[in-house]
Amino acid sequence: MTDLSRPVGPRIIAVANQKGGVGKTTTTINLAAALAEQDRRVLVVDLDPQGNASTGLGIETAQRIATTYELLVDDAALDEVIQDTSIENLAIIPATVDLSSADIELIANEKRSFLLHDALRQVAMDAYAFDYILIDCPPSLNLLTVNAMVAAHSVLVPLQSEFFALEGLSQLMLTIREVRQTANPTLRIEGVVLTMFDRRNNLSQQVEQDARDNLGDLVFATIIPRNVRVSEAPSFAMPVLSYDPTSQGAKAYRALAQEVMRNQKKQAA
Ligand code: ADP
Ligand code: MG
Repeated sequence: MTDLSRPVGPRIIAVANQKGGVGKTTTTINLAAALAEQDRRVLVVDLDPQGNASTGLGIETAQRIATTYELLVDDAALDEVIQDTSIENLAIIPATVDLSSADIELIANEKRSFLLHDALRQVAMDAYAFDYILIDCPPSLNLLTVNAMVAAHSVLVPLQSEFFALEGLSQLMLTIREVRQTANPTLRIEGVVLTMFDRRNNLSQQVEQDARDNLGDLVFATIIPRNVRVSEAPSFAMPVLSYDPTSQGAKAYRALAQEVMRNQKKQAA
């Protein structure tokens, strides 16, 4: 019998929101760690020149010799760019500031929007047997984010629980629609996850209400609380699941992973 909880080939999820500081990188790292904890094989692709996902997963700058830049611009082989992390089942393609010039360097390349798509679908990828690939996008709807959306099966949108949170969403949805109409007709929205939620704050509650009213089922049941352990973990170069496994933040990301795995089953059924 096929195990429907196991994806056929990696499920590729772009974690995107053009706003900075909304929890993209935090969600990428900790959702990846939570899936890995469930024995899923996970690859994080750091697509932000700031390289925060790489730092947060313990890949120091000196270790970032072959990166997403080499993968996209120089056609580097997968075994050159994929690195293990200290977490079991969790690998990464790191990023450096080099990636910030990729936009301009790739302008004349007619396949420029498909570079990540093609790189992740090489035959050599099969040997890694990843179940999930999570792409940490930069805070912009630029060519890198478009590459992520073209490569992905779905987009997961972290939404910070603060005023104006929903405002930027229409632009993001427009970009998703454009990608669907051109390069990736089956691109889905994995879900919108509320991040940095403060239960004592009326504003957080209001943002949640607005999000659920406007987006309905697209909003994950799981809410990520504002939790100081979550923000401390990256300075120890580890996910909160390792740094403080029983923290509220770790529990929330485990619950989010369960929802993502359930989404998968629903779609396979
Ligand atoms: P983005 O990748 O969208 O720019 P980050 O994931 O880097 O956003 O998060 C921005 C800041 O907020 C970081 O300093 C991070 O540690 C902090 N942060 C994110 N999620 C939480 C949370 N649930 N609780 C506390 N701090 C958080
Ligand atoms: Mg980030």
